Amino acid sequence: MSKEIPVHQVDPNSDPSNNKKKSETVDLYESRQKIYVKEIKGFFQRIRNVSLTLLMGMYFLFVWLTLDGQPLIHFDLPAREFHLYGMTFFPKDFFLLSGMLIICAFGLFFITTLFGRVWCGYTCPQTVWTFIFMWIEEKVEGNRNKRIKLDKAPNSSAKLAKKSIKHALWLFVALATGLTFVGYFYPIRELIADIFTLNANGWAYFWVGFFTVATYLNAGWLREQVCLYMCPYARFQSVMFDPNTRIVSYDPNRGEPRGSRKKSAKPSEIGLGDCIDCGQCVQVCPTGIDIRDGLQYECIGCALCIDACDEVMEKMDYPKGLIRYTTENELEGKTSKLLRPRTFGYGAVLALMIGAVIFTIATRVPAKMDVLRDRGALFSFNGEGRVENSYTVKIQNMSEVPQTFTLSVEGLDDIRILTTTTVNVSSGENLSLPTVVDVPPESLEDTNNEIRFHAESGGGEAIRLETESRFVGPRPR
Ligand code: SF4
Ligand code: SF4
Repeated sequence: MSKEIPVHQVDPNSDPSNNKKKSETVDLYESRQKIYVKEIKGFFQRIRNVSLTLLMGMYFLFVWLTLDGQPLIHFDLPAREFHLYGMTFFPKDFFLLSGMLIICAFGLFFITTLFGRVWCGYTCPQTVWTFIFMWIEEKVEGNRNKRIKLDKAPNSSAKLAKKSIKHALWLFVALATGLTFVGYFYPIRELIADIFTLNANGWAYFWVGFFTVATYLNAGWLREQVCLYMCPYARFQSVMFDPNTRIVSYDPNRGEPRGSRKKSAKPSEIGLGDCIDCGQCVQVCPTGIDIRDGLQYECIGCALCIDACDEVMEKMDYPKGLIRYTTENELEGKTSKLLRPRTFGYGAVLALMIGAVIFTIATRVPAKMDVLRDRGALFSFNGEGRVENSYTVKIQNMSEVPQTFTLSVEGLDDIRILTTTTVNVSSGENLSLPTVVDVPPESLEDTNNEIRFHAESGGGEAIRLETESRFVGPRPR
């Protein structure tokens, strides 16, 4: 049986005594209104241009850079290795990844507490790609008014040509984005060659296609919908705000009552505030909101409305900053504190985690040794009457260069290794070496004795590895 509750719109003017009230089903989902964002130049837009250029430059460039023949950044999934600036990380370094993720999370909390959603407004990939797509749209279809007119115009060859060029350019950027992303997992030079000669494997085509389509849809079509309905950060970031958080805000004390006026009219003489109600702040807003309605979760903190309003204030000969970065306390005439318990808390965890990750990387030994006792036989006597134990020594070389390790053992008098003691281990290799160790019976003090294996390499960087194990023998007499 259906559990749905029918929703009816109630007409407040209807006569309650009328039993035949008309009812109407209300659609609870508001369909999207296309937002025509007006281009604006200004101080904060210039800052964003710098951040966009830097981030896009890094994203598209780093995938091509190499260091000592190795890619600068490369996630080698088949080999389960991650190459970063000349270092190689393996699954056992997973905790470093966790540490870095914690640093990112607390960095975001710290900065949000101080300056609101600056991450969203200046560096979030969704913002970065959306602004690039909007820039292409502006160059191909013209300014806001021309775009509105073009969309309303009947279909024509000129309209089709403009739309086709725009979508082709969007797809080109999306394809470059997809190829670059996959290039961090599949060496980019091979990827490009394999893709265009149809020699790449099926997964490469799938992921390039997936990221191309995702970029095209997210930045071209969905845009602010991603921030409003898909991004979890938008939903919980406001819990990090407090009255001292510096965010983009409209100053109602200065702006209200709003209203249009002649430039020559003095606001105080005509009973108006500084807001001339021109709507420029709304026209430039990529999420289509009116900042004058107060703090809204839809606001991504891009500060375009500050640039737009400052331009209007300049034209009116009013002081800039009717919309500005400010705090709730300052708007209420109180003083704001930059440093407060929650910024200290987030800052302390952040500093601690950064210190811990740097220390771990700086002291990280780029090799690992494990010794496994052969469980087939506890011990045996060899032709010389000495007691033998068998082991498997595993040496993993996590450095970028091949290493030659020399194996030794200590812990009992006259203990020696009978098998190979010098081995070459190439970069990334996890070598298993069957090893036999013997001692004279008189050296044994117990049936189960502690011994230590050592492996040393002087190649490239000196590496010393040590692992404890047990040597089992007959009961001493
Ligand atoms: S841009 Fe400034 S003056 Fe114009 S409506 Fe917005 S707040 Fe008012
Ligand atoms: S109100 Fe709109 S334009 Fe202003 S900062 Fe927020 S998202 Fe940007």
